[in-house]
Amino acid sequence: MGSARKRLMIIGAGGVGTVVVKKSARMDHLYEEIMLASRTKSKCDAIAAEAGPVPVRTAQVDADDVPQLMRLIGEFRPDLLINVALPYQDLPIMEACLATGVHYVDTANYEPKDKAEFEYSWQWAFHERYQEAGLTALLGSGFDPGVTNVFTAYAAKHYFDEIHCLDIVDCNAGEHGMAFATNFNPEINIREITQRGRYWEDGAWRSTEALEIHQPVEYPRIGARESYLLFHEELESLVKHFPTIRRARFWMTFSPQYINHLQVLQNVGMTSIEPIEYQGMQIQPLQFLKAVLPEPSSLGENYSGETSIGCQIRGVKDGKERTVYIYNNCSHQSAYRDTKAQGVSYTTGVPAAIGAALIATDVWKAPGVWNMEQFDPDPFMELLPSLGLPWEIIVDGKLAFLPCGE
Ligand code: NDP
Repeated sequence: MGSARKRLMIIGAGGVGTVVVKKSARMDHLYEEIMLASRTKSKCDAIAAEAGPVPVRTAQVDADDVPQLMRLIGEFRPDLLINVALPYQDLPIMEACLATGVHYVDTANYEPKDKAEFEYSWQWAFHERYQEAGLTALLGSGFDPGVTNVFTAYAAKHYFDEIHCLDIVDCNAGEHGMAFATNFNPEINIREITQRGRYWEDGAWRSTEALEIHQPVEYPRIGARESYLLFHEELESLVKHFPTIRRARFWMTFSPQYINHLQVLQNVGMTSIEPIEYQGMQIQPLQFLKAVLPEPSSLGENYSGETSIGCQIRGVKDGKERTVYIYNNCSHQSAYRDTKAQGVSYTTGVPAAIGAALIATDVWKAPGVWNMEQFDPDPFMELLPSLGLPWEIIVDGKLAFLPCGE
């Protein structure tokens, strides 16, 4: 894209959008102007008022509507676009970027609204068209997916000849003082957790009941927390791009209080995405539930404690067994001091800003549609600490999980 300062468009003015805008607006060596567009313009205005020194313009947009997006992109003429709206909007925004010649970054893979199913096939299908257009699409540049893909690629590059077992462990040991709240969009979060679990073993996907498999995992500076096996989207791209992986799993912590609330909500039908008739209207129970739960962006101020997310990896180097654990701990309070957002929005928004910065500087740029682990992990790893997410690595330590096959 050359060395001149770039124009950046960001779609989605939620918790993650707040962090992406504030972090990117501090990169005045890189950007000349930013536009934040979302469904509710007043939310964009509130974020823009606190961001700078790069000027931030705002606009209202329905990102499900490709012609509307194309008009707005035509007016602002961005070089690249970060999509931090919802996964439902991935395909229309990718279409609009392709039609207008704009590079694309997101943090979550596409999900159809009427089916809780997430996989990369729909977005990978854009690869040839992005290649022909000379455009880069970077998928999943959040924390998980995102940093976890980069951690895996970094370990593969510097510490292993072959990776065999990968366990991604995600702990939120924060206290927000609410009886029940989700840390990112409640609808997307609950769809993810209430699905059947899935993991990769010996060349095939194995399926479990939702939250059926769990065990305590010791997290750095936090201690042991019960961790539940879920399917998570980065498993799909990581087993494809690192074919030596024999077993790949994803674990997330939930408190007993969270699980109790979720079970009650599920039992009474409030987490269903099947529309029901209510006073002459069709409503989706889960969307209604989202409307009554706290907004993730509102959780920041009184949030204490830390998140800890990382990759526990086993494999071989020079014929010897080796383990690596790479992780980041992020305090909700330091995230709030930096951006007035809580830790989960922060750990997602910072990597999105980094992914875009690497495209803007031509460091990570190749025509086509890519997952994070397909680029050189080193420049990304170098930027993480300076933008607020320091990482640590333990080589040949004890892991929480037995080797594959045991
Ligand atoms: P929020 O619900 O807080 O924000 C989403 C924003 O998108 C809202 O401002 C919403 O508008 C806007 N939006 C929704 N639909 C449209 C539309 N049709 N047109 C324009 N704008 C729209 O979610 P989060 O900020 O918590 O999450 C943002 C994204 O980040 C999600 O895709 C989520 O899955 C992803 N994520 C990724 C993580 C990772 O580590 N990779 C972790 C956490 C989240 P309105 O305000 O009007 O509702």
